[in-house]
Amino acid sequence: MKSVCIHTVGCKLNYSESSFIAKKFTEKGLVLKPFGEKADIFVLNTCTVTSHADSECRRIIRSVLRKYPETFVAVIGCYSQLNSNQIAGIKGVDLILGTNEKFKIVEHIEKILQGDIKNDYKKNGNRAEIYISDFKSDFIGEAYSSDSDVRTRAFLKIQDGCDYNCAFCTVPLARGRSRSLPIQKVLENAKHLIDAGYKEIILTGVNIGDYKVENGSGFLFLMEQLERLDIERIRISSIEPNLLTNDIIKFIRFSDKFCNHFHIPLQSGDDEILKLMKRRYNVKMFEKVIESIKSKIPDAGIGIDVIVGFPNEGEKHFKNTYNFIQNLPVSYLHIFSYSERKNTLSSTYEGKVPAEVKKERSKILRELSIEKKIRFYNENIQKVHRVLFETWKNGFIEGWTENYVRVRGDSKLLRENEILPVLLTKTNENNLVECKLIN
Ligand code: SF4
Repeated sequence: MKSVCIHTVGCKLNYSESSFIAKKFTEKGLVLKPFGEKADIFVLNTCTVTSHADSECRRIIRSVLRKYPETFVAVIGCYSQLNSNQIAGIKGVDLILGTNEKFKIVEHIEKILQGDIKNDYKKNGNRAEIYISDFKSDFIGEAYSSDSDVRTRAFLKIQDGCDYNCAFCTVPLARGRSRSLPIQKVLENAKHLIDAGYKEIILTGVNIGDYKVENGSGFLFLMEQLERLDIERIRISSIEPNLLTNDIIKFIRFSDKFCNHFHIPLQSGDDEILKLMKRRYNVKMFEKVIESIKSKIPDAGIGIDVIVGFPNEGEKHFKNTYNFIQNLPVSYLHIFSYSERKNTLSSTYEGKVPAEVKKERSKILRELSIEKKIRFYNENIQKVHRVLFETWKNGFIEGWTENYVRVRGDSKLLRENEILPVLLTKTNENNLVECKLIN
């Protein structure tokens, strides 16, 4: 029996796609091996969001080839799509598949399943075979998966690609234009996850607020259909502020299933920088969205993405960003250092920000994020929340509330993969919230 190891770099969407691809391999009778173990086939599902992601992918490929030179190596996904030549330059790589082609990896590899994997396949002078997507068709690869190996939270892909062309972003180049998975497929895949015992589904994609139903309606219609399923919880992974409408917020306010947790990319709290980034909102509009959430759902958890060191971000712009976020009732920040990507608009901009300045700004925002998180966690103390508990480790079990507070308990009555009502008692030194089970 042949074996395959699939390793992933990048976002949750990539992880869900890897899980789906792994399922296809096991359906063909291959055995899955954990990363680090010898396998007949090694698949790396890559990311190209930053130059660091690119070099990390190259490092992993080289280390696998060094350790297991006989392994058939397939490199798939976003980095393959945009930089296949760089990957092909690594001696020993056998197959390179772009973002749509990666869903056909089993068919590609089937050709070689019969024989001596490496030697049979390499008929063209030891060079990798390359298949890159041209995005001419509306093909969208489906995917759903677990958050990790625990069967509690699963990611469900509903959409891929993006039409926005923000100045810094390679996603439209790597994943093509915005495409939505047909609604029946989404509902079917959600049912597979429910049947597999998952308690929480996280809707994922590149720009999920842009989801389009075949009947002309949009993301809210999909939410309404998902609400009818027999699932305990649904969470939205990340949504663009201009697509987070009052109707969606109101729907979540009255929903029994959708979590009162939002993750919204801000990127900068300065209008000049937002304009240079080609984002589709300004600071005032963003503030209005946050106000709307908080007025309708006061205990909502809100996370935001911020990029530091975008070209021309001076002290004044960074200060504006800091002050804006400081006054915003958000509960945590994801901070990214700007990384210049080939063929993006911002790579042509002048006014590059030095690496040390980016590092310093990241540090300042990380401290602000911790402050925000502790404040939000403390606001939830002495309140009852429903927590989806994950796995026992060292005498404790952790889980998330609906509004995204990380909770820890040690009562033997707390059970894995169950949503239980608990009283949040205090924040501990690890920034986790202790809890007591409510009967
Ligand atoms: S909306 Fe997001 S994915 Fe689309 S171009 Fe902008 S940053 Fe990239």
